[in-house]
Amino acid sequence: MLEIGTQAHPLPHQDALYILLHRSQVLVEQDNQFLIPFTHFQPNAKMGAVYCGQWRQKDIFVCNFESIPKGFDEIGLRELLFQQDNDSYLLLSRAHQLATWNKDHQFCGRCGTAMREKHPTEHTKICPKCTLRHYPRISPCIIVSIRKGDHILLARGLHAPKGKFSNIAGFVEAGETLEQAVAREVREEVGLEVSNIQYIDSQPWSFPHQLMVGFFADYTSGDIAPAPGEIDEADWYHIDDLPHIPNSATISGQLILQHIKHIKS
Ligand SMILES: [Zn+2]
Repeated sequence: MLEIGTQAHPLPHQDALYILLHRSQVLVEQDNQFLIPFTHFQPNAKMGAVYCGQWRQKDIFVCNFESIPKGFDEIGLRELLFQQDNDSYLLLSRAHQLATWNKDHQFCGRCGTAMREKHPTEHTKICPKCTLRHYPRISPCIIVSIRKGDHILLARGLHAPKGKFSNIAGFVEAGETLEQAVAREVREEVGLEVSNIQYIDSQPWSFPHQLMVGFFADYTSGDIAPAPGEIDEADWYHIDDLPHIPNSATISGQLILQHIKHIKS
């Protein structure tokens, strides 16, 4: 497991391993190896290395490259993430989110001053002029599997391919609890009321910085009314006769499988 720790962040060094990004792609060696030794690439001043923590006694850094160094292939973050076990998934997610933070906070959002220095022990940049702190952005999103007897609700978003169904999900609004966000999103997207909202699990979703927070809920009232411009179709599906659902490496797929198990028990 990645150790985040509170010690001073080291500078990039030769015994560390590096995760190299190129736009939203990850640079890999043979067999999609994404932890790259220092001697395998040409470090440069523009790569903006960010310390991610310790992994199996090795310091890990993430860097951004503007072009692909010789000898590397690139692979989409999403594709690579879903080939990993849970620990590697979390490491890659963290690396990508920290690189996004470093890239997106070049100037202070309040006064526009250039942000040069990183904090020695935390992932925060402090504006040298107005002292505003800039942390990596984490955006909570709820995702919910809704039960009605032996059926669960599945919906297809506007941009999802035909025949591919998933749970209701959406961003938490400012000043809202997670449970309020679940009730509001379900009401807005499919016109239903739910109760018995229970937290189940969470998963970082680095596209670019969501934290998916998964729930079960029970149907209370209402008829399905898909929100125009958001949901193309939604319906109740018997747990033994489901359409195409998300990969079980995603929290969406996991929630559905766990909910079925729960309903059958
Ligand atoms: Zn400032």
